[in-house]
Amino acid sequence: MNDTALHSAPPATSHASAAAAAAGAAPVPCPTVDTLDHILPEEPLLMMGAGPVPIPDAVAKANTVVINHLGDTMARVIHQVKAMARYVFQTHSNWVLGVAGPGSAAMEMAVSNLAWPGTRVLSIVNGFFSARMAEMARRVGAEVTTLDVADRSIASLDDIAQAIERTRPAIVTIVHGETSNTVCNRQIREIVQLAKAAGALVVVDAVCTLSTMPLEMDAWGIDVVITGGQKGLSSIPGVSLIAFSNAAWERVRTRTAPNTHWCLDATLAENFWHNAGYHYTAPVSGVLALHEALRLVCTETLEKRFARHLRCSLALQSGVSALGLSLYTPQACRLNSVVGIELPAKLTAREVCNHISQQYQVEIAGSFGLPIVRIGQMGEQCREHHLFRTVHALGRTMCDLGAAVDLPAGVAALEESLSSSARRA
Ligand SMILES: *Cc1c(COP(=O)(O)O)cnc(C)c1O
Repeated sequence: MNDTALHSAPPATSHASAAAAAAGAAPVPCPTVDTLDHILPEEPLLMMGAGPVPIPDAVAKANTVVINHLGDTMARVIHQVKAMARYVFQTHSNWVLGVAGPGSAAMEMAVSNLAWPGTRVLSIVNGFFSARMAEMARRVGAEVTTLDVADRSIASLDDIAQAIERTRPAIVTIVHGETSNTVCNRQIREIVQLAKAAGALVVVDAVCTLSTMPLEMDAWGIDVVITGGQKGLSSIPGVSLIAFSNAAWERVRTRTAPNTHWCLDATLAENFWHNAGYHYTAPVSGVLALHEALRLVCTETLEKRFARHLRCSLALQSGVSALGLSLYTPQACRLNSVVGIELPAKLTAREVCNHISQQYQVEIAGSFGLPIVRIGQMGEQCREHHLFRTVHALGRTMCDLGAAVDLPAGVAALEESLSSSARRA
């Protein structure tokens, strides 16, 4: 190629940008935006929905720190996170990993490492989140059967035994607390026994329940437990935890079907979580936040934390009922970690949630089209002063929107429930 040829050929980029301009793709101007001070509410909202939940100061502070994601300091943090996670999961298993991602990423790590094309999976579906695990299993090519459970109820052990008998699954997925319609699968231990007897591994989604109510991974024989940060643990969203039993890890380790996920490949993640090696840049601040959230669980102890959650949730349920509102789920399968409340006639979840947020700075949640609002009782949400403010704000919201409730009775019932449980303790 000679000089003439070089000069006579215009640079390819100018061709490209001329073509782009002709097609209307003008340069992108720098936008003018508001500062966060203008966007965020002047008074922070009290986060009483179905997650994320308020975080303690120690968690918030840790979340501002950036350290090297490899090296001795991080190794010590990871070591402690795993040790504390084993306590929270109640497992001696070595295979405890963190996940850079939401609770759903931990769910996907469980499913995509244990299932592949042709794997028979039985998913017990109680609602929105348990259906998500079935969908994830379908996407990796598994042969998925769902046991679809009617809203506001849980499957009987007979139904589950029959479904296992019929489908002979390698993997059973189930949710501990189905946050969407506020039902709780209370018989996890028995369900695991049925599945194990048929040779299946059991994956339990404990995103909303872990550290709010008893769940014993080893004693109940669970193979994989997953959780998120922003619910029971009162950490930030986006950094999650997962634990595999030895049997589950063996299946992961010896699989021959290639794993289509790279970030969620548990054997690659193990290199970071057990060998201080590089997988991807760990979300260091989030891991530090999780460390603090777990440390606070350890300081409180699980026993006391479960008692606090139960006491607060029952008091909230009592206060809401005394307002004159109905709880959505029958007591036999009611989840305590998130309380579902039926809406009075003519009110929509959106109206109620907007009003309570704008007028009383309390954030609660609707639920994927169900005629309910939900109030969380996870981690820092279970504090007496938050309960009084929430029941009051809910009662006032109902009055403002024209629904008849007995606000003094609601607040009194809350107080009565809290003080009588304090007397019993
Ligand atoms: C919130 C939730 C999830 C999903 O967690 P994300 O962090 O939103 O992905 C999964 N399962 C249950 C039971 C949940 O409550």
